[in-house]
Parts: sequence; C-alpha cells; structure tokens
Amino acid sequence: MIAISAGMRKKILIDMVQLRDYQECKPDGIFKESSFNTEFKSIRELAAFYFSCRKCGDAPCISVCPADALEKNENEMITRAMNLCVRCKSCIMACPFGTLMPDLFEKKDRENYFDLSDEEELNRFVEASPGKTIVFYEGDEDPEKHIYKLTEQILVRDYVWDQ
Ligand code: SF4
Ligand code: SF4
Repeated sequence: MIAISAGMRKKILIDMVQLRDYQECKPDGIFKESSFNTEFKSIRELAAFYFSCRKCGDAPCISVCPADALEKNENEMITRAMNLCVRCKSCIMACPFGTLMPDLFEKKDRENYFDLSDEEELNRFVEASPGKTIVFYEGDEDPEKHIYKLTEQILVRDYVWDQ
C-alpha cells in the first residue's frame, strides 16, 4: 500500500481492468500538492506502476526515455517526474507488458483531472468514469476478485503481477 495522506472520507474502487477497454478520455484522480501539472501524481498512474508493472531489472521504459523522466524508487517502483516528461510515449512502446495506459501520458484538459481531497471533485471523478469503472466502495481488499488497496481510501481492481 502507498502512504498518501489524502484527506478523503469516502472509499473508492477503480477498475483498471475495465478502464483499459475504454478508448475515450479517462478521468484522472490527483492529489493537488502545489501547482497543477508539476507536482501532482495521477492515482491511475501510481496504480499502474504499483500493481501491474513487472519491475523489469533492465527497465526498458527507463532506458528509452529521452528526458530522464523515469526512475526507480527505493522500492523498485517506477516514478515519473512530471516536470521532465515530454509526453513522447516511447516508454509505452518500449514496455513489453502493456503496463501503461497511453492516456496517462497525454496532455488533458483541466476538467479531466479531479482533486480527490475535495469531496465535490471526488464525486465528479466517480461520475465522470466511463461505464461505472470508478465507484464508491465499502468493501475491503479481496484478492480473489483482484481487488487490492492502493491507499487506505483507494482500492484498485487489476491483475497484479506476482514475482
Ligand atoms: S512519455 Fe517520453 S518523456 Fe515521458 S516518461 Fe515516457 S519516455 Fe519519458
Ligand atoms: S518496461 Fe513496463 S513492466 Fe518493465 S519496468 Fe517499465 S513499465 Fe514496468
């Protein structure tokens, strides 16, 4: 589980498996820290790097990045420096496992980003999800249903790569 102090009161479930099937613009949940587009982290991007990334030893995504925007943290998890990334999508092409959803690397309009620490924006994030792929959720982790905790308040359904 990732430690993010989010100030969220409601729990949500993000279905990453179903979201991959949608071609339309997908909403992004963020936690606004300082200025928009530099410090925020997309919650879906964190989930992709945390759960489905296979943490390749040679990490072709890192080597191909022309902007040195990707690195591994102390837990071997890939992180992207938003202020360095030039959105070339080379990392998506280089990843042999389809870990990354292309829309995460596209510049979207502000209305597609929702600050999850704000209750109204959290409601709108859920409403904006295509096909109810993001819902309010009262349950807990359930590995049999591929549901895992990303943070205390955010659960994700995904096929987790297990070493
Ligand atoms: S989109 Fe391009 S610049 Fe951004 S992290 Fe991927 S390879 Fe690096
Ligand atoms: S290439 Fe793909 S699976 Fe491998 S470390 Fe990079 S994002 Fe993860």
